[in-house]
Amino acid sequence: MKSINDYIELDKQLLWHPYTSMTNPAPHFLVDSASGYEITLATGEILVDGMSSWWSVIHGYNHPKLNQAIKGQVDDFAHVMFGGLTHRPAIELAEKLVNVSPQGLQRVFLSDSGSVSVEVALKMAIQYWNTQGHPEKQHFATPRSGYHGDTFAAMSVCDPVNGMHGLFSKALTSQHFVSAPPTGFNAPVNETYLEEVETLFKQHHEVLAGFIIEPVVQNAGGMRFYNPRYLDEIRALCDQYNILLIFDEIATGFGRTGKMFATDHCSISPDLMCVGKALTGGYMTLAATLTNDRVAMGISDNDGVFMHGPTFMGNAMACSVANASLELIESDNVISKISQIESWLNNHLNRCETLPNVKDVRCIGAIGVVELDSPVNQHEIQPKFVEKGVWIRPFGKLIYLMPPYIITEQEIKKLSDAIFDVASQLN
Ligand SMILES: *Cc1c(COP(=O)(O)O)cnc(C)c1O
Repeated sequence: MKSINDYIELDKQLLWHPYTSMTNPAPHFLVDSASGYEITLATGEILVDGMSSWWSVIHGYNHPKLNQAIKGQVDDFAHVMFGGLTHRPAIELAEKLVNVSPQGLQRVFLSDSGSVSVEVALKMAIQYWNTQGHPEKQHFATPRSGYHGDTFAAMSVCDPVNGMHGLFSKALTSQHFVSAPPTGFNAPVNETYLEEVETLFKQHHEVLAGFIIEPVVQNAGGMRFYNPRYLDEIRALCDQYNILLIFDEIATGFGRTGKMFATDHCSISPDLMCVGKALTGGYMTLAATLTNDRVAMGISDNDGVFMHGPTFMGNAMACSVANASLELIESDNVISKISQIESWLNNHLNRCETLPNVKDVRCIGAIGVVELDSPVNQHEIQPKFVEKGVWIRPFGKLIYLMPPYIITEQEIKKLSDAIFDVASQLN
């Protein structure tokens, strides 16, 4: 029988993990099981989950209703091709998504992962302008500090520095960047910023198919919160300059910022919207690109067809568990509980502000961020959190919490205390 150490050694030899070196891999911890907000390691330690497994496991692990959705579906069929065939779980999911989504988004393209849903959105925008007699509109504008995924087109609209464009400079389409929106959810709108966006649109609108942005919170690019009014203004500029507006709600969708979608903080809708991550309650990989009729019908003009069709499009198990997750959000009144999580995060993370190496503490919805004045060493910091019985994975200068929505105040305190203790021991 293999010991825990044997497995860890094999893992190091055989497997790539996200963003790691094969010669100097970061430590990885072997998981035996997970339930509710707890992850149990093979070594017996139980960790309180502060990450929702990259922001996806919103209802917690091993949820009876989500388990049942998959078990029920697998006995009917696990998967059928989506070309020529369709099924109730996909149809019901599309209906539910359209019902909860910002106004006007009525057509749903299902795909396997967030990055792919972004590729789909970008392709749709290009195809739309093509059928409308503007084949030269094939580029995108986007703010710096964005993150939209790791595939090529998605990467081309990620922050050029964080996204390491230098490595791929010859292979990436060059896009048009504006500054990141000025921070502060409640900070007054800075007109100079909007002028910068307009200047870019004015100069390049002839080649711009779309403007892509994470609404209200820029996530992996720096956990930056900004005033939703910018989005209202950018919507107007997009209309003025014939540019489609694409919102990437992959991280913010399904309640994370305190509303069903971050877009619900504004008074406008985008033309296209990507969702993923929490769509299935973190059970299976599934994403969707929603569009309004203008885009969907426009692409279909003159016998146009949209040129994309993943093998596992509309996987029935993934759709079933997504339906169950959306039902839970509704039946358990999940969104209304998030303001409570926000106040717990505020109350317990606040004292980190007293630490000399902490630059900023900010919370919105079920997101709590402690920004340090210098980057952490991930290899060193990760085991310290495990020792404290919490699962927190910082990146760069950011130690943050995105707990599952079933978290209690006591556990938020435990997570926040761990951040305070670990941050206060950093040099
Ligand atoms: C995670 C993420 C993606 C990429 O999704 P994957 O499922 O990892 O491909 C895209 N956009 C945003 C905002 C994300 O947070």
